[in-house]
Amino acid sequence: MYLKERFTRAAGVEGVKLLCPAKVNLYLKVLGRRPDGYHDLVTVMQPLSLADELTIIFGGDGVSLECDHPELPVDESNLVWRAALSFEQETGRKVKAHITLVKRIPVAAGLGGGSSDAAGTLLALNTLAGDPLDGARLHRLAARLGADVPFFLKGGPAVAQGIGTRLTPITLPSYWYVLLNPGVPLSTRWVYENLDLAHLAPYPGMQVWDPEHPESWVHNDLQSVALRRFPELNGLMQQLKGLGAGAQAISGSGPTIFGLFSTWEAAREAGQEMRRTFTGWMALCRGLSGPESDTPWENQTWMI
Ligand code: ATP
Repeated sequence: MYLKERFTRAAGVEGVKLLCPAKVNLYLKVLGRRPDGYHDLVTVMQPLSLADELTIIFGGDGVSLECDHPELPVDESNLVWRAALSFEQETGRKVKAHITLVKRIPVAAGLGGGSSDAAGTLLALNTLAGDPLDGARLHRLAARLGADVPFFLKGGPAVAQGIGTRLTPITLPSYWYVLLNPGVPLSTRWVYENLDLAHLAPYPGMQVWDPEHPESWVHNDLQSVALRRFPELNGLMQQLKGLGAGAQAISGSGPTIFGLFSTWEAAREAGQEMRRTFTGWMALCRGLSGPESDTPWENQTWMI
């Protein structure tokens, strides 16, 4: 979460504006299915400068939400609202706020947008309430909202293990990413249900995530399932490779694909070339390394 603005209005209404970044999974290995239905994973997650924008204005009787995405609910089933309610239950403090969500991250796209919105909401409410929840309680609350939510509390790239909630920060160069999405959502649940665990290559053991050589380890076990549903993504990844991407893959459960580039110029050139034939959603953005969460990075995302 990046706190963009904190404001007090004439009538004494206080509010905040914050950015909730997307992520890509640079590596994702499924280790097995657990009795509770979740899967054990090892995944390398990289936050991006592509972000949703949340504005929280305090006041009113309870929580109210508006969102510019026509297909997202604006009730308790939205992860933003669920995060606000879980904060309320955990702290016993009633949340009175009007929340506006501007979606820039495609929905059900493997980019973690909903989880990031939930993490941003938790962090903002906790910060503005004077930090009633310490890091460990926030982490537990986040994990109950979704396996990816704790990652977005931290900021910066991390290796996630277990169901994705055991996090170890790692250092990666701030690569540039070209993202392509065919514009059709893909359910994470469907992808896991169609994953054939018996045919996955065994986990090679804790990897060395050589920061300078992503091509040697970028990988996604869920990719073959997403490709069955969207076979045309394979050709797009080959195109990205031909245009100089250092690595390319599907992110999470898809269907967004990414190409990773060392420089902005190389990424922009590849993006513009892809745009000549690709008609879906496309963006160029930067990988966030964590410490820059205090400096503005909102101007480092371009729609192509
Ligand atoms: P993951 O990779 O964590 O599965 P994703 O990027 O594939 O996530 P999201 O965009 O986070 O998918 O959305 C997953 C589901 O959550 C959608 O079907 C959507 O209806 C629901 N949802 C609820 N609240 C939100 C929100 N604020 N933003 C996006 N989706 C939301």
